[in-house]
Amino acid sequence: MESRLSQLTKRFVPTVITADTTGLSAGNRAALKELIAAAGVMDSLYLRQVWSGDQNLLAKLNADTSPAGQEMLRYFQINMGPWSKLDHDSAFVPGVPARPLGANYYPEDMSKEEFTTWVAGLAPADKEKATGFFTTIRRKPDHTLTMIPYSAEYKDLLDVAADHLRKAAALTDNGTLRDFIMKRATAFGTDDYYESDIAWMDLDSPIDVTIGPYETYMDGLFNYKAAFEAFIGIRDEAETAKLSSFAAHLQEIENSLPIDPKYRNPHLGAMAPIRVIDEVAIGGEAKSGVQTAAFNLPNDERIVQQRGSKRVMLRNVQEAKFNQILKPIAQIALDSMQRPLVAFDPFFTHILAHELMHGLGPHNIVVKGNATTVRQELKELYSSWEEAKADISGLFALQYLIDAGIVDKAMEQKMYVTYLAGIFRSIRFGITEAHGQGMALQFNYLLEHGAIEYNQGNGTFAIDFTKIGPATRDLTGIIMTVEAQGDYNAAKELLAKYAVVGPSLQSVLDKLAAIPVDIAPDFPLAK
Ligand code: ZN
Repeated sequence: MESRLSQLTKRFVPTVITADTTGLSAGNRAALKELIAAAGVMDSLYLRQVWSGDQNLLAKLNADTSPAGQEMLRYFQINMGPWSKLDHDSAFVPGVPARPLGANYYPEDMSKEEFTTWVAGLAPADKEKATGFFTTIRRKPDHTLTMIPYSAEYKDLLDVAADHLRKAAALTDNGTLRDFIMKRATAFGTDDYYESDIAWMDLDSPIDVTIGPYETYMDGLFNYKAAFEAFIGIRDEAETAKLSSFAAHLQEIENSLPIDPKYRNPHLGAMAPIRVIDEVAIGGEAKSGVQTAAFNLPNDERIVQQRGSKRVMLRNVQEAKFNQILKPIAQIALDSMQRPLVAFDPFFTHILAHELMHGLGPHNIVVKGNATTVRQELKELYSSWEEAKADISGLFALQYLIDAGIVDKAMEQKMYVTYLAGIFRSIRFGITEAHGQGMALQFNYLLEHGAIEYNQGNGTFAIDFTKIGPATRDLTGIIMTVEAQGDYNAAKELLAKYAVVGPSLQSVLDKLAAIPVDIAPDFPLAK
């Protein structure tokens, strides 16, 4: 019988992730090696942040050559620790404690109350540091709390990472890359990441790098402390060109949105930057659990307010997930005649359109004479609503570009069928999070209007190509009009009616249990 551990591991299907580096200059190729080495240092930093015993346990598992030991090592590497992220952090290595809520950012015996009381007694500048991204909290010999800046706590490893970054800076011929990694190397020693975050916003280079302390999810006590990670990638020139060709038509699309003309924005502002890259190496938190397919950074509020945030999309990771997860889902959920239409190019093109459409439609609105925003008016419904808007209006926008002859007509049927397959992937694990809920809303609306058809006989779904275009247009109009009017009650009613899992949908979801949850990436270029 298969062991429980191997069942857990099997949910992550091993997948090679690679990229075309042949277009890189000799200097950039040499720089890439140093950057990959710097990303490797993020692994050691992150292991130290997860738990005080993480590195010793990894060394022990590495030395254990028994099949059971090797299996544990494999799953440890997927989670970057002895707790299974997909299973509420349950331990899978015998003898390890429960996952510490505050990771290794705080003393394991410290309570929330002790921290809060200690912080209340600090001077304002210290208070800011103690609750900031880049300090750990430790105990002094007298058992009271103290803080240590990351630059001191992790000095040994940060010096090594900074050294690799400086070497890479000397090798690259790209000025924006040199500027970012030099400033980031400095930040490792000063804990002041502002200048390097600004340089990262301006990074425009064939090698794309994100490296440092970023997300705060692992701090389960306060969400204050940032975990180290790295994404090293090669800019995808074809998708980058596609993005700028779409961007040139955004105002036209805004001008033809299916809403009252008074709700359209006659002057779209500057777009937040979007980068499309192929991953070649990752490090630290990026390695743990479900693989990141896109991210928005930085988290520094000052920069987000001045410059917005930058979105980085990992094309080859999306493609791997498409092949390993979406295609098998389509084999089960879709009508057999339409399965051959499921393809990666329309899948990724729709993701790009989704991202662009977040910038279109109503944002700053007037409700009862008062200036406000859609986010403020829709409150807790906003994320689900805005995600549904970006999905459905992404289809609307692509249909517009197809009709205008800018996108190939051969994309038309493929994009609708691929979108349908994607719905099952998004709501496979329930509709508790924003994107799943928004997808269920679209699915049930389109089903009710005959744009999606259910075949009771074989339990599969199909697109009705005569109805999907008009239904997409109508739903885009409904969702955007609710946004324009800031109509919370209408959003609430529509979600209650449509964001549900009915029997036909549930019967298909039940059949998807054996399909992998995610990929376990293998990076040949990082070796
Ligand atoms: Zn979105």
